[in-house]
Amino acid sequence: MKKTKIITTIGPASQDIDILKQMILEGTDAVRVNMTHANHEFLADIKQKIDKLNEELKTSVSVIMDTRGPDITVGKFVSGSAYLNKDDKIRIYMNPIIGDSTKFSISYNNLINEIKCNTFIKLNDGLIELQVLEKGEDYLLCKVLVGGVIEDNKGVNIPGVSLDIPFLNEKDQDDIAFANEIGIDFVALSRVNNSEDILAVNDLLISLGNDHMGILAKVETEKAVDDIDEILRVCDGMIVARGDLGVEVPMERIPGIQKIIISKCHTAGKVSIVATEMMSSMELQARPTRAEVSDVANAVLDSCDAVMLSGETTIGKYPVETVSVMSKIIESSEYDVNYYELADKAMRTEKQDTTGMIAYSVTECANRLKTVAIMAPTMSGHTAKKMSRFRPICPVIAMSPNDSTVKNLSIYYAVYPVKIDEIKNFDQIMVKSKKVVEKLIDTNPGNKIIITGGYPFQNVKHTNFMKIEEL
Ligand code: PGA
Ligand code: MN
Repeated sequence: MKKTKIITTIGPASQDIDILKQMILEGTDAVRVNMTHANHEFLADIKQKIDKLNEELKTSVSVIMDTRGPDITVGKFVSGSAYLNKDDKIRIYMNPIIGDSTKFSISYNNLINEIKCNTFIKLNDGLIELQVLEKGEDYLLCKVLVGGVIEDNKGVNIPGVSLDIPFLNEKDQDDIAFANEIGIDFVALSRVNNSEDILAVNDLLISLGNDHMGILAKVETEKAVDDIDEILRVCDGMIVARGDLGVEVPMERIPGIQKIIISKCHTAGKVSIVATEMMSSMELQARPTRAEVSDVANAVLDSCDAVMLSGETTIGKYPVETVSVMSKIIESSEYDVNYYELADKAMRTEKQDTTGMIAYSVTECANRLKTVAIMAPTMSGHTAKKMSRFRPICPVIAMSPNDSTVKNLSIYYAVYPVKIDEIKNFDQIMVKSKKVVEKLIDTNPGNKIIITGGYPFQNVKHTNFMKIEEL
């Protein structure tokens, strides 16, 4: 059983239920729908298919809705695209026009009042670079520093400039309300700049009566990197969104930022997700490059909770194969993780309370006794999340009667959530634990498991027991 989770973005290449099924069987733990490209109908369709497959396969794959966020895009071009030539002067208009190689418009018409001359503007994933020369009445006159092809509605990044765009726009609010309606498990927020952005979404969820949708912050601006600790305080996890981040900050800074985010999330007990271009050569080929294998492996060795696939599974030719190869890389790399060091780090940064002491003891015992699983009966998911933070060598099987708890745990490192009917008394849980582990894992007589949780099950606030059982 791999412990690092796989999040698979769904698009035309993977929306078919048979492909979804195969991707789950190959190791997908959560799926992501990106609302920059998808509509409500697509999201609802994927949610319905995942529900059906979870039922059929007895899995707990969760659904993440990724917001469009406060982005800026270029307008439309004559016949859909244009070529911007190096050293040419071009005009960016604040009001919609049909663009060509000398002019185009953008979606944020207040830009002219907020941008200074000499600022750099990047287009199309940073491939095209412009510099503002002067401001006209309703346009910016720019010089093309790096030319290239630009197409309708491609993204605009203005690195290091913080614009006055409200974080929560109408579309995102509408999408989040819809996600709430159909029971989506996580929202991933694009272009977060600070903790207030997260709190605004939290307020929206409260107003919708939703107390369980997890909030993931996508780190893709320099401001988010600067404010990482504050953002981490109020979200459930972070996505190292290397696509936009690599346009907003120099690309060579990404590996360092990635390591810092993984480590900070681990310390805070929050989920860390590494995303974008992990296996992008597999969009066209049936096997990855050595460098991609190394990229996925290094994220695992740094002990992130999850790795994510984007283009590989939305538009790629080999969505199922990519998930399968990724699972293999994860499983192999997990042999080389320094689990004792991670458990020590978790202990050093843990509160000196009952839950922390039990979690550390369980991890120590499990690692030294080579138990096949840690069983965590849980109502809120608290015990399982704590165990995940200690990065044990064996999987943590979380048993909960709460559907939202089960789904929420799906992206935590090492945690395999299983829905059970009810958590009643202690003896029943011991019997149930053995049954569940034998179903999920190839066990042998004499194998050991550790059961840990808070007792009495219904109304205890901390983890207070551990029991070692032989199968
Ligand atoms: P996206 O975000 O896939 O929604 O663009 C991820 C990234 O920017 O890396
Ligand atoms: Mn992005």
